[in-house]
Parts: sequence; structure tokens; C-alpha cells
Amino acid sequence: MTVFLKIDADRCMGHGRCYSVAEGLLTDDEEGFVAQRGQVLEIPADRLADAEAAADACPEGAIRVVAAADA
Ligand code: SF4
Repeated sequence: MTVFLKIDADRCMGHGRCYSVAEGLLTDDEEGFVAQRGQVLEIPADRLADAEAAADACPEGAIRVVAAADA
């Protein structure tokens, strides 16, 4: 099953926890926000644990792991 990581650009406050726990999946921009703000990323099966860790780490609830890109 394909899963997706959705990052809400409006909720992201730049705490930087997500890319700290999901290196190689998420990166930071020059202001400390996750560079993938507002994007929907298809998650390889071997990175699912990292995607879930990133979602759990975000104190703003900006990251969700979902089963469909439009969920
Ligand atoms: S942890 Fe949440 S608020 Fe912080 S950079 Fe990542 S998405 Fe944004």
C-alpha cells in the first residue's frame, strides 16, 4: 500500500523536529522550516517508520501520514 506524507504549510512553525527525526526524507530550508511545506510526498515502504516519527514529532500537528494523496 502506498502512503503519503502531507505537510500543512499554514501550521508549520519551523520547530525543526520533523527533519531531525526523518533525515533524507525531510530537509530544512534557510529559515528553519521544513523545506517540503505544503507538499504531499509519496513515502517508500522502507521510510514509513521515519514518516510516522516525523508526524509524531511535530508539535503543531502539521504532518499527517495518509493512505491517499488527496486525503
Ligand atoms: S516539526 Fe512541524 S512545525 Fe516544525 S518544521 Fe516540522 S512540520 Fe514544521
